[in-house]
Formats: sequence, structure tokens, C-alpha cells
Amino acid sequence: MRTSKIGICGTDLEIIQGGYGEAPPNSDYLVLGHECLATVEDAPSNSAGIEKGDLVVPTVRRPDGCLNCQNGESDMCLTGQYKEHGIKGLHGFCSEYSVSDLNYLVRIPAELSDVAILLEPTSVAEKGVFQSFKIQDRMIWKPQKALVLGTGPVGLLTVLLLRLRGLDVTAVATRPKDSLKARLVEKIGGTYVNGTDQPISGLGRFDLILEETGVASLAAEAQGLLNNNGVLCLLGIYRPNLATQDIGHSYDDIVLGNKITFGSVNANKRYFVSGIQDFKTIQQKFPGVLKSMFTKTVGPSNYSQAYSPTKDDIKSVIDFQKLN
Ligand SMILES: [Zn+2]
Repeated sequence: MRTSKIGICGTDLEIIQGGYGEAPPNSDYLVLGHECLATVEDAPSNSAGIEKGDLVVPTVRRPDGCLNCQNGESDMCLTGQYKEHGIKGLHGFCSEYSVSDLNYLVRIPAELSDVAILLEPTSVAEKGVFQSFKIQDRMIWKPQKALVLGTGPVGLLTVLLLRLRGLDVTAVATRPKDSLKARLVEKIGGTYVNGTDQPISGLGRFDLILEETGVASLAAEAQGLLNNNGVLCLLGIYRPNLATQDIGHSYDDIVLGNKITFGSVNANKRYFVSGIQDFKTIQQKFPGVLKSMFTKTVGPSNYSQAYSPTKDDIKSVIDFQKLN
């Protein structure tokens, strides 16, 4: 594949800081870049129908031998022995050329070429939303009000997916009401709340909550905001955090309200494919919104700017067609 664009997210920054990341065997370095848009330069004939010249997004995770991995659910890996391009045991795509297994390439329609670098973070949101609705097949469930905690790229994409499904969405973050993130939420018909001005305990009750800040105390508080029969999806990475809390009341609330809290990580190819369908609808219903999430685009020689986000940046991109 010849790289067109690389998206940068918090995971890249944590790898740079040494938080995690693992070089491939026999390599003493790791090429970054798990969010990638590329053109196929060469491919053997294959049943996936991938051909030279196709615009593609590679998925990130590669399976191990476990039951779920062997059946297309590497995001549900039982062992943790999977590999991830640009994160764990495999080089990423942030170089002029890279190689991927054909079975993990998602073909991108030409009309989505300018926004498709958002597909990988969208796949994470797709999984969280899909799994929430799938779990709620356990009963009659007609959700109306949703809460999204955190408005990073995945949070904003989650708000979009929920708006497509007709939900009344409130998004909470710590940026002011006139920030780009806040304006984007309002532009797609959501309600933006600055959590530093207003505690979330006063926001009422919600049928569906997606927690994407990684703040454990907020996750605990969110559970108490669920309506009866509600579902809370945790998408953050939480650090150790000892807290004193009335767990008796908390479990009682879960039982008496038939509530669910579950975790969701990564995404398999199916969620990339559903993301493409949702992108087409988003481009029609909310034109310009996806593109306005690109707050910084630099050429490869200015990579250091891309990896140094300011607090108002949403998505930084390295564009390999850009010379500087
Ligand atoms: Zn596995």
C-alpha cells in the first residue's frame, strides 16, 4: 500500500510517552500509525476483490488462534495474544509504503476519500453503539435520551451515530460553549454541556450512556444516571483510582432498574464496513461536519506538529501528498 493519510490519536501519544506499545519481534523500534488511508500498489489475485489502485483503510488488529479471533472477532480476543499494527507487535502504516494482510483491508468509495481517515476511530464508536443495542435486544427498548461523556474524535463520532439513530443526545466535555467541539455537537442537533460549569448529576436520566473520558469517577457517577432498563457502555482506558462509594446502593440500583454496564474495545472489520454506510448518511444529513473535525493537516516532514496537539485540536492528520 502507498500511504495517503495517517490519523493521530491519544494512543499514539501514549506510545510516544512510553505508556505502552510493543515493537515487532526482531525489531528495536515500532513504526507508528494505526489510522491509515492508503492506495493498493500491488496485490495478488484474491477472493476479497482487492485490486491495485483501490483506496483502502486497513483494520488495526490481527488475530491469534483463539475461538473469537478465528471467527472474525479479533476485537473479542480471549487470550490477549492478538497483534495490532502500529501498537503491538506489528509495524504501523506511518511510512510511504506498508504491507497488510488482504483480508483486513476495507475498500473506500471515492466519494468518501476526504473523510475516510476517520474510519478507524468511527469503528470504535460503531462497536460501542451496535453492542449497546444488541445487548438491549433482551427486552422491549425504545431509547430516547443518550449521554456521551467526552468529545474527543470518538466521542464526537459517537454523537453523530446516535443522532443518525434519532436519539436526543447530550454531550459533556470541559471545553467552553463557543469551542469547535461544542459547536459541532450543536450543529448536529445535540446539546453540549461544559462539565466544569455544570455537574452531570443535574442532567436528568438517560436510556443509553457512552463513557469515553477514561475518568473512573465519572464512569461511576454515570451509572447512577441510567434510566430503568438503561445501558452504560464504557469505552475509556481507566487508571487505578481508589474511591469510597456505597456499593450496596449502586448494586441495588442496577438490580431494581434492570441496568447494564459493559465494556467495549477495538473493532473488527464489520464495524469498519458499517462505518462506511453511516459516513454516506452523515455526509448527506450533516454535510461538512466530518471534514471540520480535521483541525491540523501537515506533511510528513512536519510530523512533530501532528504529534503535538493543542487543547482545541480534534483530529490531526499527516498527509503524505503534502510536501510540507
Ligand atoms: Zn484471540
